Amino acid sequence: MKKKIAVLAGDGIGPEVMAQALRILEALEKKYGMTIDKHPADVGGIAIDNHGKALPESTIKTCEESDAILFGSVGGPKWEKLPPEQQPERGALLPLRKHFQLFANLRPAIVFKGLASASPLKAEIIGDELDVLVVRELTGGLYFGQPKYREGDKAVDTMVYTKAEIERIAHVAFQAARQRGKKLCSIDKANVLTTMVFWREIVTEVGKQYPDVQLSHMYVDNAAMQLIRNPRQFDVLLCENMFGDILSDEASMIAGSLGMLPSASLAQSPQGTAGSFGLFEPSGGSAPDIAGQGIANPIAQILSTGMMFQYAFGMPQAYQDVHQAVSKVLSQGHRTRDIATPGQKTVGTAEMGDLILKALT
Ligand code: NAD
Repeated sequence: MKKKIAVLAGDGIGPEVMAQALRILEALEKKYGMTIDKHPADVGGIAIDNHGKALPESTIKTCEESDAILFGSVGGPKWEKLPPEQQPERGALLPLRKHFQLFANLRPAIVFKGLASASPLKAEIIGDELDVLVVRELTGGLYFGQPKYREGDKAVDTMVYTKAEIERIAHVAFQAARQRGKKLCSIDKANVLTTMVFWREIVTEVGKQYPDVQLSHMYVDNAAMQLIRNPRQFDVLLCENMFGDILSDEASMIAGSLGMLPSASLAQSPQGTAGSFGLFEPSGGSAPDIAGQGIANPIAQILSTGMMFQYAFGMPQAYQDVHQAVSKVLSQGHRTRDIATPGQKTVGTAEMGDLILKALT
């Protein structure tokens, strides 16, 4: 198999963690007998410095010619005085999502074995291991619905969902659940919102095509409580845009460090469901407080690379390989600073990369 990817390392810790992820990617290439052409391109602050804007046309072109985008992180104090729409995050990530119509955001919150102490929840609530996937609709709902305006003493936002929008995100969630624990909980507020009554009906209808996936429904306020009370009851959570924004942040806090959390944003395929093209990135930012010190945790970037194999290349086994390698290294007691307990010996970014590579090969 031959693939081409755009490598957008960005700013701060982006290039440091990307270097480790690319080593893992090369090991997977070898293991599965693939060739992956890697095309680096500037994005974020470095693109502002080199090209005058956070998302240059040349970078968009590189992405358009690729099967997937492997993204690091963007931003930093150097560019914070620019007008908001020109700043690295607003000027690069949002336009990228829009340009490629990335409508499905997948964010797993994973607490690996032995890392329960990094979670703010009690160890008995986390259990042996926790892995909850939040699938968030990213391009519709209250954030984008029209009309949206301010007028005198009044401000208006509108929640709108079409049948097609709900169907395509539901398919993504059901397909993800199928590759995992085969349980899907759809989040809504059907007791109050008309759009959410519609949401529940359409998700139920789509569910008939996935008899192997157990579907349940939960109101968003209850889901916010259940994630803290008993997160292990969940496998995949399906959410509209705003609910997903809030619940995915809540779920990520359960995992402890931002350095552990991968994500994927997928585009639509010609068949109308999620396609293979997507942007794969850590959930955290460029961490300017630790950039350049060689201490950033590369695991989020490495797991994001695993997700690229799963969702962009249709190779869930490669994601499992990465997950198992990370799990093994962590169970051996190796920790970067962000996930270590006070006084525990820590390893740096490159050393963590070495260990995961060794566990993988
Ligand atoms: P941040 O995620 O960069 O950092 C928050 C905290 O988490 C920091 O203490 C940081 O050291 C830690 N952290 C994050 N990733 C880590 C890792 N891999 N290993 C160890 N520790 C890690 O958020 P912030 O400080 O609010 O933002 C910093 C910059 O990043 C800003 O310019 C912001 O705009 C940008 N940002 C970019 C993205 C993105 O590129 N997707 C996302 C969020 C923030």
